[in-house]
Amino acid sequence: MNSDDKIYVAGHRGLVGSAIVRALLTQGFTHLVYRTHAELDLTNQQAVRQFFADQKPDHVILAAARVGGIHANNHYRGDFIYQNLAIETHVIDAAYRQGVKHLVFLGSSCIYPRDCPQPMREEHLLTGPLESTNEPYAIAKIAGIKLCEAYNAQHGTHFVTLMPTNLYGSHDNFDLETSHVIPALMRKVHEAKIAGAGEVVVWGSGAPRREFLHVDDLAEAVVFTLGKEESLELLNVGSGQEVTIAELAEALCRVVGFSGRIKFDPSKPDGTPRKLLDSGRIRKLGWHAKIGLKEGLHETYRWFSKYAITT
Ligand code: GDP
Repeated sequence: MNSDDKIYVAGHRGLVGSAIVRALLTQGFTHLVYRTHAELDLTNQQAVRQFFADQKPDHVILAAARVGGIHANNHYRGDFIYQNLAIETHVIDAAYRQGVKHLVFLGSSCIYPRDCPQPMREEHLLTGPLESTNEPYAIAKIAGIKLCEAYNAQHGTHFVTLMPTNLYGSHDNFDLETSHVIPALMRKVHEAKIAGAGEVVVWGSGAPRREFLHVDDLAEAVVFTLGKEESLELLNVGSGQEVTIAELAEALCRVVGFSGRIKFDPSKPDGTPRKLLDSGRIRKLGWHAKIGLKEGLHETYRWFSKYAITT
């Protein structure tokens, strides 16, 4: 890869895309192209084909997706499957038609079976039923992975899928209804502290275990993978650091400085009991996570305090 290659980052304003843009710029890739949702609707196939024909990018990073936490995935099931299928098929096919050399597609660890052996390896894909709360999203992401694999097999492309574990960091969505657990709890704990409340409510039992990865670590993995000629196909990207939701809530209380009680709300779903990736394959290639959970939570809270505070 050359530093003046043209790289299209789809989804550059989101948690993942914005981190990838920062990482690319830091590593000297300055010929970047991106469009806001208003400028280019990726669910419009004609618009996507026209954009690729006009811009002719050398490489593509597909970080655009309809995403959300357990509640959003469960409630907007139709939107999650349709919009993600449309975005993937349009962008991946347009990239192939335009002769794009490398594409990195972002999957998610929820594509693995709900009762998958832990830690989850790439070959566990499609070996069992999915977790129902995010099945539509997972089905769309699995279709995207298979699209990349099929195009590689038929057309000789170098399209690779990275499967990150649960991500967090700056530029996240802090909306309480639609966000993932870290931004949701960070905001709840912060608001409880400001209000002088005695307790903060955490959904579910607190027992599910999750592995968290700072989005800047994922961005490094994306840049590391982009431009590689060997057939990588599918790579898990995780930190290996796993905590229960209860432990996460306690850590967030310490980071925010809240000394009240943690109350669990069992009327809300737990989702998958455990989601730990085996990231041995990408580690063998030379990438590893650098940002620990405590450090990452402090950094994210600094960003939240500066840019996302509503109270
Ligand atoms: P998941 O990893 O796909 O299940 O997505 P989430 O990040 O939304 O949720 C992870 C876990 O955190 C689930 O067990 C949730 O029930 C739990 N959780 C606890 N409190 C919250 C909250 O306020 N928001 C969200 N999104 N999850 C929460």
